[in-house]
Amino acid sequence: MTDLSLAGLAPAISEIDTASLAAWLAARGEPAYRTGQVLEGVHRPEASSFADLAELPLELRDGLGAAFRFSTIADSHVIGADAGMTAKAVHELSDGQRIESVLMRYAARGAMSERTTICISSQAGCAVNCPFCATGQAGFGRQLTAGEIVDQVLHWHRPPWNSLGDGRAGHYNIVFMGMGEPLNNADRVFEAVRLLNDPQRLGIGARHITISTSGVVPGMDRMIEELPQINLAISLHAATDALRDELVPINRKWPVREVVAAGRRFAARTRRRVSLEYVMIDGVNDGDDQAEGLVSIAAGWRSHLNLIPLNPTPGSRWSGTPAAGIERFVRRLRAGGVSATVRDTRGREIDAACGQLHAQLSGRSLREAKAAALAGSPS
Ligand code: SAH
Ligand code: SF4
Repeated sequence: MTDLSLAGLAPAISEIDTASLAAWLAARGEPAYRTGQVLEGVHRPEASSFADLAELPLELRDGLGAAFRFSTIADSHVIGADAGMTAKAVHELSDGQRIESVLMRYAARGAMSERTTICISSQAGCAVNCPFCATGQAGFGRQLTAGEIVDQVLHWHRPPWNSLGDGRAGHYNIVFMGMGEPLNNADRVFEAVRLLNDPQRLGIGARHITISTSGVVPGMDRMIEELPQINLAISLHAATDALRDELVPINRKWPVREVVAAGRRFAARTRRRVSLEYVMIDGVNDGDDQAEGLVSIAAGWRSHLNLIPLNPTPGSRWSGTPAAGIERFVRRLRAGGVSATVRDTRGREIDAACGQLHAQLSGRSLREAKAAALAGSPS
């Protein structure tokens, strides 16, 4: 896969398709089994460069290093929170664009084994321009390549971060809830999902991957056809067009009725639950009118409403709905037959919501930020 803005760079090993890798190896006179060996090697949690693939002849390791980039990520600045259970990275890409990803570990509970959720970006910036979202406020940079998407997962899978996870990619949950609107970059996002899913690579189960969208209806219909095993989350945030036009401006193109209809088509065709995300903003979208609207939108089909208190962005005029208000809202929804829960807000202290750390770093080099973090001052 190539991208115009990245023309001239060697392809990343994470995005080379298996047939092209096999052809490259064959042209060097390597036996056919090398393809699987290389793919297995570069996705091993211990591997931090091609040099670590000790099972390969030295000359081949050098050849791989000359022909492919081990990662599309040039540099990363990582900060942790929640006693190491949450970590957030700002990644700098080859052309200087910056994106974010977040790692969240959840301890084993009852019959549930330990889980690791990795939140990744699909674009540098975002053109949808939601006023409560730091990424939206920063504007659009460019589309990410499939390799740049996969490499965010590999960042947390590789040293030294794999010590935070359990090192087994099969136990990861992947959510496209970082920067960007994934369905405005659907070709590359879908390609990245197939790569993450590939048993010769990370082998992450489709049911452990979630695409979150602000409501790109054609993209949701493509998911039904092309990736019916992937989970769909819709960022609703308002039940009426008048309010949603303001909070999620893409609503002017695909209004609430069309977005909900697409969600219902997805649920009907895949027989799986669709998440409706709802950021609760004090005095803005937490009133009885919105609760009533949500009941008529969300009751009676396979949907689940996730309420998330707003994580205020710097300079924002809005704040999150207080706990008592959220509880009242949830009670109204449940009384109307809606399945609803309040999501825990991980990593508040490191501003883990959408684009916030990136916004703080603007104008500073990653090296400066890292030096400041080492010196103990807030980054
Ligand atoms: N663009 C896609 C996916 C990335 S945003 C989308 O909008 O769905 C992922 C989620 O984070 C969305 O539900 C978004 O509304 C939410 N979000 C953005 N800014 C937030 C903030 N300041 N506080 C809480 N949630 C936020
Ligand atoms: Fe884009 Fe999602 Fe942020 Fe809206 S909430 S600006 S769609 S990243």
